[in-house]
Amino acid sequence: MKAFVLEERNKAVIKDMPIPELDSDYGAILKPVAVSVCSSDVNTVYGSGTKKREDLILGHESVAEVFEVGKKVKDFKRGDLVAVPAMTPNWRDIAIQEKNFLHAGRPFSSNALGRTIDGVFAEYFKLDDADMNLARIDEGIDVEDALMCVDMVTTGFSGAESADIRFGDSVVVIGIGAVGLMAIQAAALKGAARIIAIGSRAASINLAKKYGACEILDYKQGEAVLKEYILSSTGGLGVDAVIICGGTDESFAFAVDIVKYGIGRVVNLKHYPGEEPIPIPKFSAGRGMSGKSIYMELGAGGRVRIERLLNLVKYNRISPKDLITHRFYGLDNIDKALELMRVKPKDLIKTALYIKV
Ligand SMILES: [Zn+2]
Repeated sequence: MKAFVLEERNKAVIKDMPIPELDSDYGAILKPVAVSVCSSDVNTVYGSGTKKREDLILGHESVAEVFEVGKKVKDFKRGDLVAVPAMTPNWRDIAIQEKNFLHAGRPFSSNALGRTIDGVFAEYFKLDDADMNLARIDEGIDVEDALMCVDMVTTGFSGAESADIRFGDSVVVIGIGAVGLMAIQAAALKGAARIIAIGSRAASINLAKKYGACEILDYKQGEAVLKEYILSSTGGLGVDAVIICGGTDESFAFAVDIVKYGIGRVVNLKHYPGEEPIPIPKFSAGRGMSGKSIYMELGAGGRVRIERLLNLVKYNRISPKDLITHRFYGLDNIDKALELMRVKPKDLIKTALYIKV
């Protein structure tokens, strides 16, 4: 089969690979129908993270058709259309009993597809524990909406959940890429009153407004100006919550600066490359006693999570396929989608690639 593999650092190529074989009674072999390239795929190929094994098949965002299931799989059969969560927790690990879903057993254990196990940028891929980790796509749900639910929606929504958004909250979302836009949507659904989005991507601004942002501020004004504006417009108190979905290392310090003492929540969803520490300003952190809370999150995964998000699509609460600005056809074009994600032109939010031409 054809697959898009990481041959060596900085080099991903289409290669002929063996079709995976079912090796678990609970597992499934899947045929991707549509996939999406993620910034984290760009990090896997070009980033400075842990060394990956040779010929690792990339990709973790997909909608797929079930090709084969193990003997003990109850809820899925050949031909079913499923959304495959980017995060696939190991539901047999003892840490699940402590509700440690994403890091059960070891850090990032759920973040396996395209990272520690072969991913979805291929004609076939294998997944353990089909009943726990595949999400059923009900009739009428658009493939592209489902494709966005497996990572962008769940990650952005995890940001709003960890921020514990309450009715009437003021919220700043830093970064209006796909995850930031979903964080805006989630904050609005959870009852935030004032949602301030910070970003400058032209393609995203209209969507940010559509999803619930009341104000769009531009990074280019500089953090000092933005900070002054946000603090003065909240009576000097700062906002109830900040969700970081983009920006630079300094955005973290900025978030701590603009969130309320006592009850403010800062949730980080952004990836920080490099080795330098993530900055926390001593003054606005109250020299460690400010009562501000900081959370560092991955998107939630697993079947129930994604099926619940798909219900939001089904009942017209969200329409995440609006995030898709570029479409590709045929697995042979996956390198173009990856390159687009690396270069990030102004009109890009998210890609979808249909495996068949
Ligand atoms: Zn992703």
